[in-house]
Amino acid sequence: MTTLSEPRGAVARHTAYLPHFWDKTKDSRSIWGISWGHPGFAHRTPPEPTTDHRPTVLVRSWDRPAPDGSGETWPYLHRGACLGCTWEGPNRRRTDEAVEDAHDHSHPGWRDLPAIPERRGRHWLAHVQRCYPDGWLERGGPIRTIRTGIEKRHKPGAAPGGGYDLGVQPPKKTAPVTAVSDLLPFPELDGTETA
Ligand SMILES: [Zn+2]
Repeated sequence: MTTLSEPRGAVARHTAYLPHFWDKTKDSRSIWGISWGHPGFAHRTPPEPTTDHRPTVLVRSWDRPAPDGSGETWPYLHRGACLGCTWEGPNRRRTDEAVEDAHDHSHPGWRDLPAIPERRGRHWLAHVQRCYPDGWLERGGPIRTIRTGIEKRHKPGAAPGGGYDLGVQPPKKTAPVTAVSDLLPFPELDGTETA
């Protein structure tokens, strides 16, 4: 059978990928599918389309010169994608770049959200909810956390509403006053202390 048109979008691609994965006589790595651990990924069941735009990541093996003309060889290609529509982002070398592309599509404005400390203490969730727009977490929106440990990668499913936890590098230690203000925005103080 000849495939006349490629499937498009995360749901269609992963649904088309699965029979190739199940057929152990074929190498399925060169077929686009949802990346392991990212939303919609499963080896047994096709993903369910969502009613709104939800970010995920597609991956396929490549082992060829980079599509960006840099002359490097990329082992894989990644693309940001959406479980709610057929949008796909540009080819990327790294998973995290594709994750960010997907959020530009599904949750525009995420880059302007305050970066918060990594989860700790029982007041952490209340702090996040104060800092982020109403309903943001319920819509599967991401949180941005400052990563001081070795794990810098974006984490799928790690936000309180099931969205991504997007890693932010800690600011340089040259301006501690500014850094504290960036790290711990307490917007409820703005109206009372400075008015
Ligand atoms: Zn979408």
